[in-house]
Amino acid sequence: MSDLIARVAVAAPLDKTLYYRIPESLAQQARVGSRLRVPLGRRLVVGYLLAFTEESVPRLKDVLEVLDREPLFQHAMVAFFEWAADYYCHPLGEVIRTALPAGLSGAGQGPGILNERLFFLRSAAEEPRGSKQRAIVDYLRQHGVTPEGQLKEQFGDVYASLKRLQEQGLVGVENRERPRDPFAAVPLGEDCPVVPSAGQLAALQTVEAALEQARFQPMLLHGVTGSGKTEVYLQAVHHALQRGKKALVLVPEIALTPQLVGRFRARFTPRGIRLAVLHSGLSDGERYDSWRAIARGDADIVIGARSAIFAPLEGLGIIVVDEEHDGSYKQGDGFRYHARDLALLRGQMLGASVLLGSATPALTTFYRAQQGQTEYLPLADRVMGRPLPGVELIDLSGQRLPGVLAEPLRLALQENLERGEQSLLLLNRRGFAPFLLCADCGTTVRCPNCEITLTYYQQQRLLRCNYCDFSLTPPDLCPACQGTQLAPEGAGTERLEEELTALLPGAVIGRMDRDTTLRKGAHQRLVDGMFSRRIDVLVGTQMVAKGHDFPGVTLVGVVNADSALNFPDFRSAERTFSLLTQVAGRAGRGDKPGRVLIQTYDPSHYVLNCVAGHDYRSFYDEESTLREALGYPPFGHLVNCLLSGNDEQRVLGAAKGLASAWENLAAGLPVEILGPAPCPLSRLRGKWRWQVLLKAGNRAALRRLLRHFVSLRGEVPKGVTAIIDVDPVDML
Ligand code: ADP
Ligand code: ZN
Repeated sequence: MSDLIARVAVAAPLDKTLYYRIPESLAQQARVGSRLRVPLGRRLVVGYLLAFTEESVPRLKDVLEVLDREPLFQHAMVAFFEWAADYYCHPLGEVIRTALPAGLSGAGQGPGILNERLFFLRSAAEEPRGSKQRAIVDYLRQHGVTPEGQLKEQFGDVYASLKRLQEQGLVGVENRERPRDPFAAVPLGEDCPVVPSAGQLAALQTVEAALEQARFQPMLLHGVTGSGKTEVYLQAVHHALQRGKKALVLVPEIALTPQLVGRFRARFTPRGIRLAVLHSGLSDGERYDSWRAIARGDADIVIGARSAIFAPLEGLGIIVVDEEHDGSYKQGDGFRYHARDLALLRGQMLGASVLLGSATPALTTFYRAQQGQTEYLPLADRVMGRPLPGVELIDLSGQRLPGVLAEPLRLALQENLERGEQSLLLLNRRGFAPFLLCADCGTTVRCPNCEITLTYYQQQRLLRCNYCDFSLTPPDLCPACQGTQLAPEGAGTERLEEELTALLPGAVIGRMDRDTTLRKGAHQRLVDGMFSRRIDVLVGTQMVAKGHDFPGVTLVGVVNADSALNFPDFRSAERTFSLLTQVAGRAGRGDKPGRVLIQTYDPSHYVLNCVAGHDYRSFYDEESTLREALGYPPFGHLVNCLLSGNDEQRVLGAAKGLASAWENLAAGLPVEILGPAPCPLSRLRGKWRWQVLLKAGNRAALRRLLRHFVSLRGEVPKGVTAIIDVDPVDML
């Protein structure tokens, strides 16, 4: 008999798959989708079993161990992983490692499987003696097989009694897995079924038709904030389930949107439909259990953040991507995939529906709808005829504000408080002030490791780098001129909070940013405070714009719309439009109408005017004209190559080498090679950073160049790291 041979992707930066022999003793355990322990050079590494072959390959090493009792993914996932690895130019083993739940990548076993003991009645022939023992036997007679935990709840300490009963042969015991349940402590909410509006109905009909034909159908559900998109997701998913299919729902940073999970649970759990969640708010163990339940086929709906796009669901009929424009769908390091783009790919591979929803679709998504590649499903109005909030721009030019807030916004906040209504303020900057500035010589205090000023935190009396966490007690004297006039310049959320406390005595102010939500439960407490109306004014960074539907908010203020607009990135207009529209959409979602005030030094900017007019279409037209002229997405495709290292000359040398190698390869191809240029953040965590950008009108030419990257990377000198980012989102 010929040897059984496994094709394996190892969790290491290796550009090809390897073959190993499976020894007799492991033949029974090894399955496609299992993790293996295999030798690689002198090391032992984790590998993923992709396929079996029986070809004989000489001098193969043996698989040493099979790490999983049940496979972590099915055979059908392998093609998807391979496609993603190829598209993003990333080693297959690393792709799979990123896809699998955290905690499984090391050589260890990862999170354990919890077991519990189940007790059952063996014989009712004899009556036990003790009263507790008798009660237990009665209970088992009535309830059948019962977990130990349940008996403890009923009878307190049962250890001795159970032991006695077992010894007498009256009661038997068995072990079974006890899956960790992330919902155990979360009560089931109430489902509010609604009669779909005409727009919702039309959207659902398109979904149904696509499900009926079981074909790949990308759809864009473009609905203003509060137009009932979530209701469409719920019913679309239900349609898929009724056809015996499964559903995957992606949401941005799910820990921030427990509301959405709550609505899915309220609708589906009472119908016996099994829901699983996958997100970073779960413990490693919870995620491991969820993942295995999905792989076993024990989940009908999976809701998760970015990495849930890799959930091993079989028979997937629909993938929903909520807030498809959201930047958190793009992984920012390692395997830099985009979950929405992979959703489209997975849908295409499976012949499934892909429903992308947003109030502010990504330019690329709307473009595809314009081109007819994606079905366009508009929801033009808020539900129940609720109006969109009025948006006013406050012109700050030529004004010298005493603080952060201009008079109209101060007044509006006071009036809103007097009416007992809630307000929300967006200021996309943490800390008290973005930097300390010397009034004598103009010096700012900068991070020694990063090309950035240190943020000033007044309450902690600390200067801190928001990138590398370097911190420093603020100096009394200017480090450059020894002057005494170092003062905080500009404003962050902490300063805004202080100003509000003075402006609105007696009001309860909440602050939501990365600093105040570090501790577990802190974010939820702020959210609860908004729902219970304990908090009068919530200030925060973009976190406040996402995912929440606080019915009591009638006033939204944007403290500084310009900082986001002036960001050195071609997507800054798109991001700002989306952020401001989202935060404006938080106003007036309940019974009372809302009002939005935006402070800006540039009130004639097209982005702000489109936000004020709730006019996505004009924004799209204006922005796409600019993009087309520059050949930027959606009119062209980008790949960014980032080179970094401790030695600036080496990094620059490597960047030049790479750029010229690509120049040679690109001769005659419609690809532009831009750079090398220093990254906008030219130094970060002590590393120098340069980039080479590839830009092409068509993807095929770009991919031809990318194919050479593997060998080019091999030529990059020691001490320099080269990272490839296909369809980059963040190019800082
Ligand atoms: P979006 O996701 O577009 O922001 P939601 O789906 O959250 O909007 O809907 C906003 C609110 O309106 C929710 O409370 C929802 O239950 C309700 N709603 C949705 N569709 C309808 C409808 N057709 N009739 C009445 N209320 C609806
Ligand atoms: Zn730093």
